[in-house]
Amino acid sequence: MLDLPLSVDLKLQAIMMYRVAASLAGTLSVAAFQPTHHSISSIGGTLRSIATNTQHVRSSLSAIPSGPAYCEMCGTTTQIKIPEGDERERHVCRDPKCGHITYQNPKVVVGAICTYKDRVLLCQRAIEPCVGKWGYPQGFLELGETTRQGAARETWEEAGVKFNPKESELLAIYNLAGMQIQTIYRAELETDDFDLAGHESSDVKFVAWDDIPWEELAFPTVTWGLEHARDMKDETQPTVQERTKLMTMDGQWKVEEG
Ligand SMILES: [Zn+2]
Repeated sequence: MLDLPLSVDLKLQAIMMYRVAASLAGTLSVAAFQPTHHSISSIGGTLRSIATNTQHVRSSLSAIPSGPAYCEMCGTTTQIKIPEGDERERHVCRDPKCGHITYQNPKVVVGAICTYKDRVLLCQRAIEPCVGKWGYPQGFLELGETTRQGAARETWEEAGVKFNPKESELLAIYNLAGMQIQTIYRAELETDDFDLAGHESSDVKFVAWDDIPWEELAFPTVTWGLEHARDMKDETQPTVQERTKLMTMDGQWKVEEG
């Protein structure tokens, strides 16, 4: 599979798709998706399957377009192949005695929109990407956490604010190009005290809904979440906003409800 020739167009498309995917993935952590020398080959494989089956367009980024160059179990180099009984290309250890298969799956991001008496907690990003832009606390879920616990931990780390995860309410689920799933909660705080302790935020503040710096928000999903939270602020049982962002083969982003 690796050695099949790619047309120039497909190669260019592969590079473009990789950049978009990396850019999307980098909305929270660039480092988590650093390319390896297999990156373009991997996307090439993805594109080849798309080219032979247009039904795959919706999941055009379903395979993360990069992977480990070395086996995480034994350190041997990996190759891209479809393992027996599988239907997708994976990074597989070249050592037949090991044969470890690296499965790559979407990352889970957790976030919390916290309020205290009709003011919302915002953090100014001190780290790339989008240094200086504003958002609510969010980050990658850690092993062993529930999504609620992760949202509370991120809030503690980024703003020095605590809430009881069990009392938070699910507000939104965003599916981003098959690469990232965001689950966003809302929580009403008992105080507006905060402690700017972490290295991830350069400033923390509570703002009225009308004073949210809409032009200074870090990512489109931050805008979605805050708009939905504002729409739900008087509802005791918020509806969950479910949105999907995907890319079509002509390179256009498309946002769908649900
Ligand atoms: Zn191995």
